[in-house]
Amino acid sequence: MKTLADYYRTKSPDLLDKCHQFGALLDQLRAEGLYQPLYRLELQGPLDHTIRVRDPRSGQERALICFDSNSYLGLHLHPRVLSATRRALDEAGYGTPSAQLLGGTNRWLRELEETVATFHGRASALIFPSGYAANVGILTGLLRSGDLFLADRLAHASLHDGCRWSGAHGGTYAHRDPADLARQLSRAEKVRGRLVVTDGVFSMHGRLAQLRDLRRVTAAHGAYLLVDEAHSVGVLGETGRGLEEHFGMPGAIDILMGTFSKAPGSVGGYVCGDRELIDYLRFYARSCVFTAALPSATCAGITEAFRVMAEEPEHRERLWRAARRLWAGLRQVGFTLEPLESPILTIPVGDLALLLQVGRELFDGGLKVGTVGFPAVPRREGLLRLSVNARHRDEEIDRSIEVLARVAARHGLLGVTQAELRAEAAGGAP
Ligand code: PMP
Repeated sequence: MKTLADYYRTKSPDLLDKCHQFGALLDQLRAEGLYQPLYRLELQGPLDHTIRVRDPRSGQERALICFDSNSYLGLHLHPRVLSATRRALDEAGYGTPSAQLLGGTNRWLRELEETVATFHGRASALIFPSGYAANVGILTGLLRSGDLFLADRLAHASLHDGCRWSGAHGGTYAHRDPADLARQLSRAEKVRGRLVVTDGVFSMHGRLAQLRDLRRVTAAHGAYLLVDEAHSVGVLGETGRGLEEHFGMPGAIDILMGTFSKAPGSVGGYVCGDRELIDYLRFYARSCVFTAALPSATCAGITEAFRVMAEEPEHRERLWRAARRLWAGLRQVGFTLEPLESPILTIPVGDLALLLQVGRELFDGGLKVGTVGFPAVPRREGLLRLSVNARHRDEEIDRSIEVLARVAARHGLLGVTQAELRAEAAGGAP
């Protein structure tokens, strides 16, 4: 089956030819009933542990158990967060339509900056309209031609985009492989600044970056370390401070980036660090300079979400309990899962056509899970991605295990590893 990679470029000189050809593929997927249950499914209420959707084929409303939300602690529905948002909405209106350096800085934004910086034990923080914009802004704001970047191969797309668009020299190192990183850093002579870039929790596979190794290698080679803590904040560490707290290494990250679109339950991104770094980026990160500030009400809600994260550990405890229950249950029915390092669990499927088919059967069985293909993961390494959250109930987890086991067994996916699937696709042994 063709993938998005096949429509990146076509032979035709017509600029829009690729759109026509891609449109034909989507029409075909629609006709086969594979598109509608998986992409742009219309929710009729909040994105939560269960969702209400209109089934695109029958037109009827249905309830599904959902593993697609990144609101790990359920804070987007927390009463304290909602009332803080409402109060600021009444005081400041629903938008802040000006850039931060002009009219977009107000007391809610300032309070959010201070809250985020304090949460991470840093001097200062800068807020962006999204996590994607944060990564692009930080990387293009700091890297110059003549500098070197090295990014983990499976780092988030926004990190790769920011690195590439910076015009600096660099590439990727093998996923979570400090020896490869060290080799590449020692080969790089005649470069100026050096930056190593990674996810803290890898967004698609849920694995952790090995902070101790990364710190050792970067220190030995005079490189700075940027870690994207999107999926770690609120989730990892005794008090939800993320990767540094998990490894007992406070302050180990030079440039700490995060998003408000996961555990904080909203939208927006940030970077925190030394005052001079942040002040520099305030003026040189173009995706912050040339765009409007986050609305005040959103800032107020996120500030409250950070307070809840720090003050109410019960959400994190429930999250981990649910994640452990799903992980153990899936292993018991025969899935080969990686060790549980985060609430993101993945089941390898490999082939895109099979992935879509399995996704549809899970939808029919009452589950909404992520069906992740290229370019979010390497070609032919498609996977089901299940993001657990604190609001999942035991009976929902147990029912999901049953449905997943039934569908996987039908397609011979129990007990299979990504390496075996890759080998099968290539026609050889792993
Ligand atoms: N970094 C990582 C690791 C992510 O998973 C994401 C979102 N999927 C982003 C950055 C982008 O964040 P946002 O959705 O806030 O733009």
